[in-house]
Amino acid sequence: MIKVCKFGGTSMANANALKQVKDIVLGDKDRRYIVVSAPGKRFKEDIKITDTLYKCYNELVSGGDFKGTFNLIKDRFIEMVKELNLTIDIKSILEQTEKEIIENKSPDFTASRGEYLSARVMAEFLGAEFVDAADMIRFDSRGKLNEDYTDDKVASRLASVQFAVIPGFYGKDSKGNVKTFSRGGSDVTGSIIASGVEADLYENWTDVSGFLTCDPRIVENSKVIKELTYKELRELSYMGAAVLHSEAIFPVMKKKISINIKNTFKPTDAGTMIVPSEAYTGTDNVITGIAGKKDFTVIFIEKNLMNAEVGFIRKVLSVVEKHNICVEHAPSGIDTLSIVLESAQLKGEVLFDIINEIRESVNPDFVHVIENISLIAIVGHGMARRAGTAAKIFTALAKAGVNIKMIDQGSSELNIIVGVSNEDYEKCISAIYNEFMC
Ligand code: ASP
Repeated sequence: MIKVCKFGGTSMANANALKQVKDIVLGDKDRRYIVVSAPGKRFKEDIKITDTLYKCYNELVSGGDFKGTFNLIKDRFIEMVKELNLTIDIKSILEQTEKEIIENKSPDFTASRGEYLSARVMAEFLGAEFVDAADMIRFDSRGKLNEDYTDDKVASRLASVQFAVIPGFYGKDSKGNVKTFSRGGSDVTGSIIASGVEADLYENWTDVSGFLTCDPRIVENSKVIKELTYKELRELSYMGAAVLHSEAIFPVMKKKISINIKNTFKPTDAGTMIVPSEAYTGTDNVITGIAGKKDFTVIFIEKNLMNAEVGFIRKVLSVVEKHNICVEHAPSGIDTLSIVLESAQLKGEVLFDIINEIRESVNPDFVHVIENISLIAIVGHGMARRAGTAAKIFTALAKAGVNIKMIDQGSSELNIIVGVSNEDYEKCISAIYNEFMC
C-alpha cells in the first residue's frame, strides 16, 4: 500500500510540530511520499514564511535591501534545525538560497524557497531522500499544468525511491523557470504526487479535523463531515469551505484515489474522507454540508416572449463576457433571466456599462439590479433520492423570516442554491442547519 501525505504550514511551523509530523509518518510504513508546505504561523499574529518571502522579493525589486527581512527566515530555519539537533548545514543552504533569489529576481522562485527549505529540513529529520518538485512538475506555455508529462515524470522519478520528501507549491514552466501554483498550492502538489505514484490514499494533514457541515462561526456545534464525494467537495469548496485548495481534487479524481483530511495535532481523529461516488458508503443524511458566500449582484432581466427569441441568453452573456467577468449563476424563467455576478468584479462604472449594453443588445422590457446578495449552497447526494427537500428548506426559511430572492438547483440534484440579502446570511444558514442537521 502507498500513502502520500501532505503536511500544511501549521504542521511545519516549528520544531515541536515537526516532531508530531515525524511520529505520524514513521507510525505507518505505507506513508512513503511526504509533501510539505513552507512553515506557517506559530501564533495568531505570526507571519508565514511565504509571506515573508514575497516581502523579500518586493524589497529586492524596489531597490531596497531585503537582507533584514531574509534574516527573519534564516533565524526561523536555524532555530528549527538547532532544536531538532540536526547536522544539516542549514547556514550554507540559506546563503546559497539568498544568492539564488538575487540572481533569479523572480517572485515565483523567491516564494518557492519556503517549501524548498522546509523539505530539505524535513528530509533530513525523517532520514528520507529529498526529491525536488521542479524535476517532476511541469507547466505548459500558457501556465497550465502539463498533466501527462508531470504524471509520467513523477512515476519514473519516484519508481525506485522508497521514502522521499518533496516540496509543495511549485514546479517549472516550459522555459525551465520555477513557477508556483496559486496560494495554498501544496495541496495540489500532494494530489499530483498521489496520482503519479498511483497511491492508495492521499492523506492531507492540516490543523483541523476535516470539513465541517457548516461554518463554525455561524453554527457553534457544527460537526465534522465523515465522508464526502468529489462532487460534493467541489460544490462546498466553490462556495467557500476552505480546507483544501479548490484544484487539489483533479489529479486524484482521475485515478479515483481517495483523500483523507487529517489533523496533525489530533492524529487519532478520523477526519473527512473524500471519495469517488462509487466508493461512497452513504449516510442517511439528506444534506452533507452547507456553505455560502456574501456579496453578489443579480441583474434581473424581463422581456415578454423571451423564450421565443433565438439567441437572447447568448447575447446577454456575451455582454458580460466582453467585460471578462464570470457568470456565477443564470437561473431563467419563460420571460425572465437573472444573471448572478460577484460584486467585487463590478468596480467603478462596470455595472452601469453592462446594463446599458444589455439594453442595447436585447431591448428588454425591464432590467432591475439587486445588490448585497448572499448565495447559500445546500449540498448533498441524499437530496437526489428524496422528494420534499426543497419544500423543507423553503418552509424552514419562511419560518425564520428569511426572504428568498433567488433559487437555483444544479442539474445533478446535488445542490440547491438560494440567494438572500446579505443581512439574512447567518439566519439562513442557521435555519437550514437546524432543520436538517440537529
Ligand atoms: N506556502 C504556500 C502558501 O502559503 C503554499 C502552501 O502552503 O500550500 O500559500
